[in-house]
Amino acid sequence: MCGICGNQGVDRRKLLRFGMSGMVALGLGGLSGQARAAGAPTALSPGEALAALKTGNERYVSHPELCSLDLKEQRNAVAPHQAPWATIISCADSRVPPELIFGGHGVGELFVARNAGNLVDTATLGTAQYGAAVLGSPLIVVLAHTACGAVKAACDVVSKDATYPGAIGHMINPILPAAIASRNSPGDWVNNAAKESARRTAKRLTASKLIATGIAGGKIKVTAAIYDLQTGVVSYLDQA
Ligand SMILES: [Zn+2]
Repeated sequence: MCGICGNQGVDRRKLLRFGMSGMVALGLGGLSGQARAAGAPTALSPGEALAALKTGNERYVSHPELCSLDLKEQRNAVAPHQAPWATIISCADSRVPPELIFGGHGVGELFVARNAGNLVDTATLGTAQYGAAVLGSPLIVVLAHTACGAVKAACDVVSKDATYPGAIGHMINPILPAAIASRNSPGDWVNNAAKESARRTAKRLTASKLIATGIAGGKIKVTAAIYDLQTGVVSYLDQA
């Protein structure tokens, strides 16, 4: 699994024989190389960016072997400018690294904002807006995950009146409405609350004027998704 190798299940020995230039030739030129060369934002549409994330996640699930990324080559290519083709707002959870779970992307591909619970405060909203309006990222994904500790903490506030030290309680407050709304739904409460919170967060993003304008013009898409820690699969959620 690797965005540079690109193809599925490339034998590592073949890669070594192929050499570094061959690895680059197999890479994601269609995603980022074109934009890098031109010094312009990505040419991908919102739908094409979403399809690329889905293909990458399928690659991550079916062929999770890591191969060598030529990070020096990538670093040099994107140092003058960046042209990310998707924005990911994900949890800070160490098991949910967006660049890996979307297919092994290196430097300069994804514009990522992370915090516990994948929430959108002023800083994250501004980050998403900057990615869309300034950098030209056509897709924003609010990425929840199963068994999220921040969401579980919110559920524990609702069910057990739990309290947390420092700023932790304040941080998870925005999850409480989703936890309350999903409390009696069938299935796993924490996972249902994570999905509901991601939907609400995506909805909040679409309500911001700057992003709404991009959506209306067909230049930006916002979606919510959840990553399964066990299977590695990213499932996309219908927004409420
Ligand atoms: Zn989490």
